[in-house]
Amino acid sequence: MQLNERICAVQERIARAARRVGRDPGEITLCAATKTQSDETIRGAIAAGLQVCGENRVQELCAHLEADAYAGAGQVHFIGHLQTNKVNKVVGRVELIHSVDSLHLLQAVEKQAEKLGIVQDILLQVNIGGEESKGGVEPEALEELVNAACATEHVRLRGLMAIPPIAHEPGANTHYFVKMHQLFVDMRDKMPHNKCDMDCLSMGMSGDFEDAIAHGATLVRVGTALFGPRPAPV
Ligand SMILES: *Cc1c(COP(=O)(O)O)cnc(C)c1O
Repeated sequence: MQLNERICAVQERIARAARRVGRDPGEITLCAATKTQSDETIRGAIAAGLQVCGENRVQELCAHLEADAYAGAGQVHFIGHLQTNKVNKVVGRVELIHSVDSLHLLQAVEKQAEKLGIVQDILLQVNIGGEESKGGVEPEALEELVNAACATEHVRLRGLMAIPPIAHEPGANTHYFVKMHQLFVDMRDKMPHNKCDMDCLSMGMSGDFEDAIAHGATLVRVGTALFGPRPAPV
């Protein structure tokens, strides 16, 4: 299949998954996980209608920005692990940072956004699978971080993000998606209304995005299903 056919196929699967549970497909954003993809591939994907690109690595983000590879895309997001010492390369250059997971990182983002005189949209990443190797705040510590985010002036908390364990069979991650949706609803309810605008629940990848949509995802991050197996990193 050509890239544009794969994009259409994924968009169609998203729409079907949404309708199956009575949701409007327009509520769900497709974020293309573009890690390891070339400038050409990204340009081709945008020409074929992709509107949101999600980058994992600061280095790749910078290289693609430099090459103007995202021209025409509605938005660029940062979806990978972010080190505090690299926030100045990301803040103000992407519409949404999905991976804020500590007070330290939150404060670094706030500081850089203040310096630039902007408001940076972020999600808080939750370690929903309790995996040691994965980033994300523990669910028990989430509320404190939500409160801290709501108290900042240059960061706007838009929602939550999770990367559950790799799903080896359909439905394997359903309980994580259910838990994330519950956390999302709880946090939204507890929030001081005037400060935050929680409308984004980022979960679901190539292996499980339909399941994530069935359980409330508003944004899915899809790589392999759009671009095919990733080339080995160089
Ligand atoms: C790579 C990646 C994805 C997409 O993974 P696929 O399984 O290729 O769809 C989504 N989210 C994050 C954070 C990623 O790093």
